[in-house]
Amino acid sequence: MLTIALSKGRILEQTLPLLKKAGLEIADEELNSRKLILDTNLDDVKVIVIRATDVPVFVQHGAADMGITGKDVLLEHGANGLFELLDLGIAKCKLMVAAIDKNKLEQNTLKIATKYVNSAKRYFETKGQQIEIIKLYGAMELAPVVGLAHCIVDLVDTGNTLKANGLVPLEHIEDISSRLIVNAALFKTKNAQIKTWVKGIEQNL
Ligand code: AMP
Repeated sequence: MLTIALSKGRILEQTLPLLKKAGLEIADEELNSRKLILDTNLDDVKVIVIRATDVPVFVQHGAADMGITGKDVLLEHGANGLFELLDLGIAKCKLMVAAIDKNKLEQNTLKIATKYVNSAKRYFETKGQQIEIIKLYGAMELAPVVGLAHCIVDLVDTGNTLKANGLVPLEHIEDISSRLIVNAALFKTKNAQIKTWVKGIEQNL
């Protein structure tokens, strides 16, 4: 049995066609049900659909053999006990610093609102900038507008969300896309089965 952990939402929509091309299908009744472990067209493959941030946790502990999640999530998680096997090239965006204007970044101690605490710390540490992190779980764009922070570190796709809130993208931290990950120990014990799937997905990218 092989268990694959998929990220809910925007990543899932773009993942299903890739899996289908590799021969793995999940019926709409399964996807629309409240079940957490979904059957697939293959007897020896099950799928779990969970939050993107939980995918590396399930895979790291071997509760899922493989998973698909964003690079942003992997950078925060640290990817211990995992191998990143493929860049799927889906759910592409950029991790960026944004503020009301560029002058706002000129601070002795820059206050940053973000849920990407580790990535933000790493980036500003490299620049030698002293920072204070304000951890938020959503609606980061609000923080500079209400004076909670000087800037934010967040994902930017079209830039529309920033624009709608009077913010501009200023500094590029990372290019983000979804990745196929595998539990490092299971990669050895289930190597043949996992490699077959990796090849099947890779061929259709
Ligand atoms: P946009 O307005 O198109 O720049 O999208 C920005 C909003 O969508 C922000 O709230 C981001 O956190 C979220 N977002 C954009 N791309 C992704 C992605 N690939 N994965 C998860 N969230 C994303």
